Amino acid sequence: MALIVQKYGGTSVANIERIQAVAKKIKVFKDQGNEVVVSVSAMSGETNRLITLAKEAQKTPNTREMDMLLSTGEQVTISLLTMALQQLGCDAISYTGAQVKILTDDSHGKARIQSIDDVNIKNSLKQSKVVVVAGFQGVTQNNHITTLGRGGSDTTAVALAAALDADECQIYTDVDGVYTTDPRIEPNAKKIDRLSYEEMLEMASLGSKILQIRSVEFASKYQVPLRVLSSLIDNPIGTLITNEDKIMDKIEEKALISAIAHNKDEAKLSLIGVPDTPGIAAKILGAISKENIEVDMIVQSVSAREGLTNFAFTVHRDAFTQASAILEILKTELNAISVQNDDKVVKVSLVGLGMRSHAGIASKMFETLQNENINIQMISTSEIKISVIIDEKYLELAVRSLHSAFELNK
Ligand code: ADP
Ligand code: ASP
Ligand code: MG
Repeated sequence: MALIVQKYGGTSVANIERIQAVAKKIKVFKDQGNEVVVSVSAMSGETNRLITLAKEAQKTPNTREMDMLLSTGEQVTISLLTMALQQLGCDAISYTGAQVKILTDDSHGKARIQSIDDVNIKNSLKQSKVVVVAGFQGVTQNNHITTLGRGGSDTTAVALAAALDADECQIYTDVDGVYTTDPRIEPNAKKIDRLSYEEMLEMASLGSKILQIRSVEFASKYQVPLRVLSSLIDNPIGTLITNEDKIMDKIEEKALISAIAHNKDEAKLSLIGVPDTPGIAAKILGAISKENIEVDMIVQSVSAREGLTNFAFTVHRDAFTQASAILEILKTELNAISVQNDDKVVKVSLVGLGMRSHAGIASKMFETLQNENINIQMISTSEIKISVIIDEKYLELAVRSLHSAFELNK
């Protein structure tokens, strides 16, 4: 008998028929003698719908009330799924995050899980019930409802798997695994059978929306074997995400590049012609971080005029307006020549452990983009990734040409 944690995303529970289909799948695992804990998302589109409503009610919605509102999406699906299971004669019970006591810090909208009380879940499992837990939500020490950030149901599932020491955590979604790139952008993308936590972490942090980054961090930290697979087909195999050493012996056969990730949430800000003196980066980024805005890529370059430098960085598009206003103030304070901001940029990245031992990947990437006449605005590299910032209108072209240049479709 195994203990399995399963997560079903928004498209998998989009309507009653899909919820009934999910219930049938769960019943199969249960009937095989497994203990099953399920975490579900809100019906697809529901979280967005609620966010739109909130913005109509209040210009900048209060973050506590926003979490109160958004948590209702998942409360709908846990109860409907539990009813559908009971209808099939499969005993089940639903719990909200607060009822389980998924304890989080109090950063509304991006709360972090601190601990999970397993008492209620274990008792219900002992009574041979399937346990259905609302994804994406938790509760603070003072009983305020919190949410874990977009895509947070992934993290709920992995955290539950870690807390319950589950044998596997299965993330059911609308694609059968992790692909060499987003199959919606490149239909020739190939499914990857196995990936290391490290590579998946890099992909998630570079914008691959298939898994929330925190879920991969949890899986890696607590060594939870993670499988991504489709809820829409029969007998899916999916992608197994596990330890690097388990797949390291296969590294010889592994492609240099495992995947291409992209992130459409980027916005670029530049201060042109600021004094090239010590402390200038600290001054600019200090003003940005004081407002709790996270900075992604940073480039400082020599300006055409002596003694001056250009300073550019990227932030999440949601923070664009706020960051632009800060830059206008800095422009006056630092006597800069101008501010150049652009929220129509994207980040495209190559990811792969194989990159470590091979030179020439970067030049091949740049050459490929050059052949397509795509201008690179910023570059950043690490041991296992290379990222570039480009104009958003070239996103599809860049992803597809790199996918074929690095033979990821083979
Ligand atoms: P869910 O609602 O099940 O959580 P998401 O929309 O959050 O589903 O994630 C699944 C989507 O992730 C896919 O439909 C796909 O478009 C996108 N995606 C992005 N990058 C990848 C990738 N490398 N492999 C597979 N899917 C990807
Ligand atoms: N419903 C939330 C969202 O849309 C959480 C999730 O689906 O994982 O982001
Ligand atoms: Mg998701």
